[in-house]
Amino acid sequence: MADIIHLLPDHIANQIAAGEVVQRPASVVKELLENAIDAGADNIKLLVKDAGKTSIQVIDNGSGMSMTDARMCFERHATSKISKAEDLFKLHTKGFRGEALASIAAVSHVELQTKRDEDEMGSRVSIEGSKFITQEPIAMPTGTSVHVKNIFFNIPARRNFLKSDNVETRHIINEFQRVALAHPKLTFFMYHNDKEVYHLSEANLKKRIVSIFGYKSNEKLVPVNEQTPLVNISGYVGKPEFAKKIRGEQFFFVNDRFVKSPYLEHAIRAAFEGLIAPKKHPSYFLYLKVPTESIDINIHPTKTEIKFENEKDLYAIIRATVKHSLGQYNVTPELDFKRNANLDIPYSYKNKVPQQEPPIKIDRSFNPFKDQKQASWESLYTGAENVDFLKPLEETELEQSQLISQEYIGFRTQQLHQKYLISSIKSGLVLIHQTRAHQRILYEHYLSELSDGEIVSQKLLLPIKLRFNKLDMELIKEMQSELENNGFLFEKIDKESLTIAAFPAYLSETVIPEFFQSFLAAQQEEIPGQHFSKTDVIAKILAKTNAISVGKSLTPKEQEELVDKLFSCKEPNYSPFGKKCLTTLTKEEIEKRL
Ligand code: ADP
Ligand code: MG
Repeated sequence: MADIIHLLPDHIANQIAAGEVVQRPASVVKELLENAIDAGADNIKLLVKDAGKTSIQVIDNGSGMSMTDARMCFERHATSKISKAEDLFKLHTKGFRGEALASIAAVSHVELQTKRDEDEMGSRVSIEGSKFITQEPIAMPTGTSVHVKNIFFNIPARRNFLKSDNVETRHIINEFQRVALAHPKLTFFMYHNDKEVYHLSEANLKKRIVSIFGYKSNEKLVPVNEQTPLVNISGYVGKPEFAKKIRGEQFFFVNDRFVKSPYLEHAIRAAFEGLIAPKKHPSYFLYLKVPTESIDINIHPTKTEIKFENEKDLYAIIRATVKHSLGQYNVTPELDFKRNANLDIPYSYKNKVPQQEPPIKIDRSFNPFKDQKQASWESLYTGAENVDFLKPLEETELEQSQLISQEYIGFRTQQLHQKYLISSIKSGLVLIHQTRAHQRILYEHYLSELSDGEIVSQKLLLPIKLRFNKLDMELIKEMQSELENNGFLFEKIDKESLTIAAFPAYLSETVIPEFFQSFLAAQQEEIPGQHFSKTDVIAKILAKTNAISVGKSLTPKEQEELVDKLFSCKEPNYSPFGKKCLTTLTKEEIEKRL
């Protein structure tokens, strides 16, 4: 039998390597920013389109490359940063493996423009999927621009695997923040779809943190500083009272490189022990400087995991240093007023129950609908695409369905199981819960009718007498004037019965007893009535009693009317009782399944 082993062609080897280096647009951002820093740039611009799915460009004013290097840099293992094995232990650059550009070029369209100071003309090189296309001289200022387009154009499985724009943008912002925090002295810009996201001027670390995370972070930070022969530690940790429920502002750098070290980061959390609740996460921006020969960065292709020679010692030093800083912050006299009570509790008391329950503050006048009443429903959904990606990941994913009300294009609907309506929207399908949707429509209708005060009463030919227990009658009496304002007229009210002479015209006569049942139930528990207006409670009850039920067949015309009306509601996504009215199935999700 013939020999069967052969060497892989370069473009395949590059694609395989790319799988490790380039996982998503944010990986490209990281590599390009790091190259700009390695090239000595002090002004770096990142331009991103469509969460990096369409284009990522990094422009720097660094050293630039010669004409030959402009082509060479795309070769695998092509690097100017190391030349022998020992260099691996003297690293002062971010890159050294010489595979980022080769990997990026293997899975996208790349256009490189670069010029050195000493050269008259620069070079422009374009490459598509590892294939060299052109090289030509161009006039340009000193520095480099790498423009990466159509990432994963040749690996559909990867491209389809990318998450929503919000999520991918969040990853890009994370990488950008990490690099910007590691280099406060450099100027950074970031644009997304031509809008400026960050403009970070040269600063000290504290200013840089504040310009990324907002002016409020200034007062939340405690400085950390310690010099030992093994390690120099500097940076900031967040005060314990600002610890967050979600992980977020946690940045750990070693020799100006953002790294993930679960072991050493545990040391930071250990320093906070007893100061923050177990499920909360402290923020930190911690910078370690260690001798280059005491770490090994080359254990992972993305270089975010590294090995330390003296891990145990470092753990102890970090923990003690952070603890010390937190302690100092606590005894600084000028801060005494703001002292966090938690810090004064000895550890042995940590799990004990306080003898007196602390009073709970509730804002009883709080009305979540107050400010929304005037706003048109469109305004609630516009502009979301600009702000969403600045929020933490956990939140952005939830908000995807919010824009669909704008997308409804009035296609024919179908009823499913006499419970759901299915309808097409631009981005896929929407499934609507018929009862909840109708509740929402009726609720908003009643609310505006009740608050406009135009209520028509209808007289009963024969008054209806309803019996209640004493307690319920008390509740009804309490609400008597409210009910009368809303179209009821009572002939007689005594301790155990109610005689109704007229009722609101929008209610059908047959549901009057049910209305009162729901009304009482709402007063007792079901609807949090206390801090809503009485009108709101009545509108909810009316909506509940009059809404079509599950199991009701709807004609095509009724179905369409329901969908149309739902999408002209102020808040089509939720029933007045906070349940979801609809869910969407996007084209991407459908394609993934079929
Ligand atoms: P590495 O950074 O590991 O050396 P890369 O593939 O990222 O590998 O880059 C290859 C080489 O291309 C670098 O070693 C450097 O010489 C050159 N290079 C890449 N980006 C730039 C840039 N923005 N400015 C100047 N030179 C660059
Ligand atoms: Mg590199």
